[in-house]
Formats: sequence, C-alpha cells, structure tokens
Amino acid sequence: MIYLDHNATTPLDPRVLDAMMPFLTDRFGNAASRHHPLGCDAATAVETARAQVASTIGADPREIVWTSGATESDNLALQGVLGSPVYKKRHVVTVATEHRAVLDTCEVLALRDVDVTYLPVDAAGRIDLDRLATAITRETLLVSVMHGNNETGVIHPIAQIGARCRERGVLFHTDATQTFAKIPIDVNAMRIDLLSASAHKIHGPKGVGVLYVRRRDPRVRCQPLLHGGGHERGLRSGTLNVPAVVGMGVAATLSFDERIGTLRDRLEQALVSRLDDVEVNGHGAARLATTTNLSFGGVDGAKLMKRMPDLAVSSSSACTSALLQPSYVLGAMGCDEARARGSVRFSLGRFTTEAEVDIAVDTVVEAVTALRAAQE
Ligand SMILES: *Cc1c(COP(=O)(O)O)cnc(C)c1O
Repeated sequence: MIYLDHNATTPLDPRVLDAMMPFLTDRFGNAASRHHPLGCDAATAVETARAQVASTIGADPREIVWTSGATESDNLALQGVLGSPVYKKRHVVTVATEHRAVLDTCEVLALRDVDVTYLPVDAAGRIDLDRLATAITRETLLVSVMHGNNETGVIHPIAQIGARCRERGVLFHTDATQTFAKIPIDVNAMRIDLLSASAHKIHGPKGVGVLYVRRRDPRVRCQPLLHGGGHERGLRSGTLNVPAVVGMGVAATLSFDERIGTLRDRLEQALVSRLDDVEVNGHGAARLATTTNLSFGGVDGAKLMKRMPDLAVSSSSACTSALLQPSYVLGAMGCDEARARGSVRFSLGRFTTEAEVDIAVDTVVEAVTALRAAQE
C-alpha cells in the first residue's frame, strides 16, 4: 500500500511514539494531581509539550489550550468568542472553502443570531483582500480564514489578513491545521489572535490538538465549551491525555524538509505530462508543498480510486466524501461538477519516498488510461 493521503491523517513518527511510551505505562500520573510525584511528573511533561507547541508559533505557553483536535479548537474559537458576554458585536466573516469544522460551526452560530459572511474565492482558490476589507463592518467581531486548505493545499496570506483585521479592530482566527509545524508561523508578526492545530496531521497522535488564544494586545475573551474541573485556565475542563499531549509537543519540534516539495512536484509534473486533460486545482496560487489536487478529464474520481486499491489517495475531502457529492471546495472555485468528480488529492508525508511517487504515477497513468479507453 502506498499512502498518499497525509492531509487526512499521518502515521506516527517513531520519535513521537518513543516519547509517548513511558506515559502510557509507568508514568501514568494525572497532570492535575500535583500533590504527589507521579502527578508532578505528568504536569511537568505537559508543560514541556506546551512550551514546544508555543515556540513553534512564537506564542507564550500560557496562550496554548489543549483540545481533542482541530475540530474542537475551531468550535472553541468560534463558539467561545461569540459566546463571550464581553463582546456585543455579532458578525463573523469567513470563506466558502473553510474546513467543515468552521463552516458547520458558523451554521450553528447563525441559529444564535450571528450574521455570517462567506467570502467567495477565485478559480485558483484565493480570496480578494479588498473584498475582505469591505466585508468587515462595524458589527464584525471575528474573521476566520484558514492558512492552508486541506483539499487543494492553497495557502491564504494570513499575515496580510491579520494586519487588516488588526487595523479594523477585529479578532482574527486561523485554522492552521495543515500548516502548523510545516511552514513558519509567528502569531505576533502575523497578528493572529486565535489559531487551531492538530497533532495527527504532523505525524503525531490522533485525538489531541491545540487552540492558541492571545492573552494580550488584545486579550481574547473566550467561553469554554466544556465545564468541569477548570483545567486549562478554565477554557477546557477534563483530565488531559498526557501521552497524546507529550506526542504533540515532540511532533511540533520535528521538521518537514524541502524534499517533500520536490517529490510533490515530481508527482504533479509526471502526471500532467504523461496524461492528456489533467488540471491542477489551485494552479497559480501559493500552495502547500505536500499537496496536489488534480482533475482527470472524463474520469470519475471514485471509480479511479477503485481501480487503484494499493494507492491510498482521496477523491474529495475525506471528511465529506461519505456524502457522495462533489467537493464544495472545488465548487467554490468555479469547477464544474464533472471536473470536481474527476478530482483526486495526493498528499505526501515525511516518510514518502521517490520510489513510492514513481509507482503511484505509473498506477494512476494506467488506471486513467484504462478508464478512458473503456468509455470509448
Ligand atoms: C484535519 C483538519 C481539521 C480537523 O482536525 P481533527 O484534529 O481531525 O479534528 C480541521 N481543519 C483542517 C484544515 C484539517 O485539515
């Protein structure tokens, strides 16, 4: 099996597993039980991991809240800020191509009398910054724009977006799940007020993530979703999953090298040159080095995947393909339904090899050629 679906999830890095192991066995303390050595040991490990995550994005460790993953982080950011009694404004600006964790949360907010504006994107998946500026009104409390898109890899200019939000006195949240620990992020330089990330997209364990919440200039007010023991400075109650937290800390320190981008280019260029009628979705925009999303003309993505049982790729957003409808992300980019149905996402990881890429290319070329021949 060749695995090219790293935007959906990644295998654990062995260095992450090594760091987690002791906390799954002997070092099992509750990080909130600091009155004995086992609890203190766990608490120290959690704080080390918090500092590792914080330093990845130039944050203060006190600004990092552990969550169960980016879905929870997005929910906490949006519902938490809009739920704070300190804020009176009731307007949110987001983008049509956000992850469902943001879009579905916005739908819930709309039921609670929050106005939501969904910015459109152009054919390459980019937003228009002037359009963002006009969308911001006196009622706007929060702008939420993701950093790297999970389906297409298109990267939004979050430093410019952050600067505009700060000028207008609006809070800025970014879902950085696909970019965290892969490309440099500095929450201060980029004027980010809230940021979501997840461990399992960076060769860390599933079920753990963080929300960065700015503490000063401005101090962001956020209501918890979960109430209980008052863990995480009251923002997220519940006993911490210490092994997972430790794993995320280590995963955040491990680098993604440029080799991945070279392999992605090799894959993309080979498929585009060896097959007719292949379009690169997001072509022309800045894109994540790990991702390519291709539309094969006249081919159904789901049928194509069925012909390639040893190749793990994604025919749409893995999270929405259960719905059996073409991608809303590609739809927002003006992609017609046939082209959207013929799209396949290839996403590479730290352990992807050149040999795997070459086998994947041969497999796809063979399958596309066979499917097209069968239709003639
Ligand atoms: C994977 C992903 C999520 C969801 O993260 P989980 O940790 O699986 O909940 C949210 N946003 C983006 C952009 C993602 O890629």
